[in-house]
Parts: sequence; C-alpha cells; structure tokens
Amino acid sequence: MPSACRTRDLVVVVAAHIASDYPTPHPRKVRMYAAVSSSTLVGITGRPITVEVHVGQGLPGFTVVGQPDEGCREARDRVRAAMLSSGLEWPNRRVTVNVATGERRTDKGGGASLDLAIAIGLLVSTEVIEARRIENLAFLAELGLDGSLRAVRGAAPLAAALTDKEVVVAPTSAAAASLASPVAVRAVSCLAELVTVLREGHPWPDHRDPERRAPGDRVADLADVRGQQFARAALEVAAAGAHHMVMVGPPGAGKSMLASRLPGILPPLDDAAAFECAMVRSAAGEDVGGLARTAPYRAPHHSVSLAGMVGGGGGRVHPGEVSLASHGVLFLDEMGEFAPSVLDALRQPLEEGVVRVSRSGIAVEMPARFLLVAATNPCPCGRSEPGACRCTPSARQRYLRRFSGPLLDRFDVRVVLGRTAGEHLTSLEAGESSATVATRVQRAREIARLRQGVPNGAVPAWMIDDVVPLDAGALTRMRVLLDSGVLSGRGFHRVRRVARTVADLAGHEGPLGVEHVEAAVALRTDFIPSLDPR
Ligand SMILES: [Zn+2]
Repeated sequence: MPSACRTRDLVVVVAAHIASDYPTPHPRKVRMYAAVSSSTLVGITGRPITVEVHVGQGLPGFTVVGQPDEGCREARDRVRAAMLSSGLEWPNRRVTVNVATGERRTDKGGGASLDLAIAIGLLVSTEVIEARRIENLAFLAELGLDGSLRAVRGAAPLAAALTDKEVVVAPTSAAAASLASPVAVRAVSCLAELVTVLREGHPWPDHRDPERRAPGDRVADLADVRGQQFARAALEVAAAGAHHMVMVGPPGAGKSMLASRLPGILPPLDDAAAFECAMVRSAAGEDVGGLARTAPYRAPHHSVSLAGMVGGGGGRVHPGEVSLASHGVLFLDEMGEFAPSVLDALRQPLEEGVVRVSRSGIAVEMPARFLLVAATNPCPCGRSEPGACRCTPSARQRYLRRFSGPLLDRFDVRVVLGRTAGEHLTSLEAGESSATVATRVQRAREIARLRQGVPNGAVPAWMIDDVVPLDAGALTRMRVLLDSGVLSGRGFHRVRRVARTVADLAGHEGPLGVEHVEAAVALRTDFIPSLDPR
C-alpha cells in the first residue's frame, strides 16, 4: 500500500478517536436517520425519489452520495445558511445524504430542487420534527440563504410524479404544482414557517398567488393582415391539414406576421395536449400559471444551438424548441441561416412526433409534434423593389439551394408571397378574422379525424388511395403533371394530401375533382426551379 494512503487512513482513525473523546455539542440522543420524499426531473418527466439523511458520530462533515450533480453538492451551503437564518441549529456532526432514485441510472440527481428535502431530513434526523409528521408529504423547493422557499424548474412534472403525497412547494411554484399534483399542494413561504407547521401542528398557510392565469391565450388576429389572399389561403390549408409550410418573400412581405397568426386559427388544445404543453413549459423553467388552450408558437432565432432546438444542455436534459412547439407551431424565419446540423436534427422529430436526446448514456424522449413553418428571402440581398436586387442568378440559386434535400420534401405548402391568388383560391374572402377561419379549420380537422384519425398532412402513403380518391378529370390532370415532370412521384402524394384538405375546407365529399388538384398544385410553388422537382 502506498504510504500516502496509509497516512490518510491513520489521520481519519485518529481524528475519529479525538471526536469521540470530546463531548459532542448536542449531547441528547438523536434519531440519526430520515427518509424524505421528493422527485427529480428526467426530460419533461418527474420521477419520485427518496432523500436519505444520516446524522452520525464522527468529524463534522457533509457528504452527498448517490447520483448527485453540481447543484446537489452545493446544497450543503444553501441548506446550512437557510437553517441558521431560520433560527435552527446546524448539526455539527457527520451528515450523509443519499439521493436514492430506485433506478439503475437516470438523469443526474435532483440539484437545487432537493434543498428543502435535505433540510427536512436533517430536522427529522435531529428530532426537531417528528418523522410521522412528514409521512404523507413530499418536498420540492430550493432554499434561499435567508430561509425562503424558492421555485424549482419543472414544478408541474415534479409534482405529477408524487402520486400519493401532499407536495410542499414555494408560493411561486404552487400554481404549476397544482396543475399536476393528484393530491394537495401546500404553498409555504419559508423554512421557519414550515417548521412551525410540522412541529406544532399549526394549520397550513395558503400563500398561493390568486392572480396567476393561463398565459398565452391572446394571439394576434388574421384580420390585421391586409391583402395577401394567396398567403392567407395557404395558411388556412396548412392549419386545416397540418401541412408543413414554407414562405418565400422579401423582408417586410409579412412572413412572420402571417406565421404568428397560425395559433389563432388552429383548433384549441384538448385537455391532454394542454396538460402536456404545461409539463414541457414547466420543465423548461417557464412560469406555468394554468392550462393554456391556444396552440403554442415558437420562433427561435437562427442562432439557436442544437441543444436549444432539440433539447439537451449541460448535465441535465432540458426540453428544446421542438418540444416547446409541440401541439403548435415552430416558425423558422430565415431558415437558410440556421446551422445545417440544427435543421438536420429536425428530421427525426418530424418523422416520429417525439425527440430523443442522449446525454451521458441516458436516453430521454420528449414530445415534438409540431407544425413546421419556414420563411426565407428570395435571394441573399432580399431587396424587393424592381431593379434593386443585384444578386446573380447563381447566387440566388445557391441561396435557395440550402432548402433542398430531405427537409424541403417535408413542406406540402410552398408559397411565394406577392403572387396573386389562383382562381380556385380567390373565393376565400379577404380580411376575415381568425375566429371565422378557425371555424372552417376546425370543421376540416374534424372531417379528417372522423375519416382517417389523423390530419391529412399525416396520412401515410398506403392510405392515400382510400383517403383521396380522384375523379376521371383529376386523374387525367395528375397524369399530365407526372408525365411532364412537373410532379415527382413523391410530390404526387403531397399534392393529393393537400387537395384533400382543400376539398375538406370546401365541405366536398366524394372523389376529388380537377379544381382540388389545381388548387393543391398552386399551393406548391416551385421556388428552386433547377433543383426542386415537384
Ligand atoms: Zn438579391
């Protein structure tokens, strides 16, 4: 054995002897052990855990074992300061904290959200609080140095995991925790207050903030968009069939204005979707006051990182934009400016409706079923005035070529802003409000749901002949488009899905006619002529 090691062992043994020879500062016999319920976050899902605290003989110290992360190791200083600030004694003994997840390996430990559970464990171990008082409770709060309880990231999914416990949280977490907790939520402002309740049986205080309401239920109205009949029609079709959409147009053409109106015309979220959206937002650290019924809208800047887009982060997995946009809209303005790796990472969630993120051997799955809306300038300079653009044809082509490839193939609806409406789309009135359009969208969605269970944009290829029958005229037209090379085989399926949506919006039953096919083709503008076979 190397001598350094032996020396250290000897020091520990001697130190332990010294410690046991001197009277301890707390001569009364203490309980020594406590197990406290809490939960930890894996992606957007809470997992129940037990925080074990042992206060024993030996050199004063504080050790966290199990699977602690950085936040958990720092807990000692926060918990100690909070206890002293609250007029409680810090046990000058050997304290061991074990974070037991009961699983082989999950996300790293609970971080700061375990502060309160650790403090309660110490207080039960030293018999300041009776163990039976916390039997039916779980604790989810970070501690401030002043002893105050602070909100934790992911309070909603963390509370959802605690199926048989009342959950003690900070007042700022109460609304989010109440959304998901199957039992009661106790909002307590500080550690001293909590100790009074648990020691002396005082009634629970009620510190929840009554002002908190569901956020994001006000969105801009489509009635504000002047003109742009073609783009409005495209937006309506995209919403009704859940068709991914790309818009090409110069700056100021209203691309983001149009995209931001989409949540107002999409069907309101049902209970399950609204709940899932709240879980994602809570896990991402956003303030969740209630269930929002409006579809989410996310418009990340083109500098967004890969982790920001699909989820991930340092040691722990945070939901990314694709999950925050789930059940709603992901808008990518200036799509060509996004890092290719970021765009490439969208393919898997677009395919499966979920995103899988791996961090240090842990695979986390999060929801990611969104409507993708992209926008781009027609050329690098983006100047629309006649004669102003000096970009060469090859520069324009290079610029738009960034849209080619597998991702481009996802866009069923492709519009160049400023184009006049095709004759089959002009019947849609201009200046309609979102509410009017939303009614048609919802009716079309319902027709599709009753017919095939999924929106038209998600109809699998094998189902297309059943779902989108064509009459003789439409078949002939399709054949001409295929033979002339205007449509590829893949484009053929895409056009049929969109034609189905156009027909559903018009309340048309039976085989689709040539007018539906023409409308769908008009909504598939060929904006990269040499590289984009339709
Ligand atoms: Zn230009």
